[in-house]
Amino acid sequence: MNRILIAEDNPHIVDFLKAGLKAHGFTTLVVEDGHQAVELARGDDFDLLILDLGLPGKDGLEVLQAVRGQGECLPIIVLTARDGVDDTVTALEGGANDYMTKPFRFEELLARIKVQLRDRRPPANASPSGSRLEVGHLSLDLLTRQAWVEGRLVELSAKEFVLAEVLLRHPMQVMSKEQLLNRVWGYDYDPGSNIIEVYIRHLRRKLGNDAIETVRGMGYRLRS
Ligand code: CA
Repeated sequence: MNRILIAEDNPHIVDFLKAGLKAHGFTTLVVEDGHQAVELARGDDFDLLILDLGLPGKDGLEVLQAVRGQGECLPIIVLTARDGVDDTVTALEGGANDYMTKPFRFEELLARIKVQLRDRRPPANASPSGSRLEVGHLSLDLLTRQAWVEGRLVELSAKEFVLAEVLLRHPMQVMSKEQLLNRVWGYDYDPGSNIIEVYIRHLRRKLGNDAIETVRGMGYRLRS
């Protein structure tokens, strides 16, 4: 629940969004035109779309129409200009989940993003295991971001938690370094970096040395 697609063509706003979201453990991919936004909003690569209305190629309202027309229920937060009251109404009627008027405070956007992501999760009381991921002795609560090993609470950083989540979602499956980089650090990360090795080491220290197996030349696998 941390992958955000940003469709925005203003480099200053892009930098502002990327830096803020990254600092809060989100992974971002930026597209600068509407056609790419429609293309990438397809499928389940992203958990939320931040959509500027004034985009080249296809404008934001057309993107919204195309994405909802494909039957995608991806949460969409629209960014509108100060005087674009009509656009805001049209966007909400066209299936946007929320909107922000530029200029905006990052904290406010973050709060709205969290509401959208929270609303998409199954309510914890409706199904006790709905927000829990459990494999072997490991257990993650996706709602509270807490982790347990054999019932003992362990402290994970935001990135460690996301990395653990990706591994627990694919138990016994080998995840390549590239897959992990993409899912946890985003698409603009240097594939030559050793950050995965470093974080796997952190996770082994916290989750137990044999929790994660190294598959030579291929990647990593969670032992169940
Ligand atoms: Ca724009």
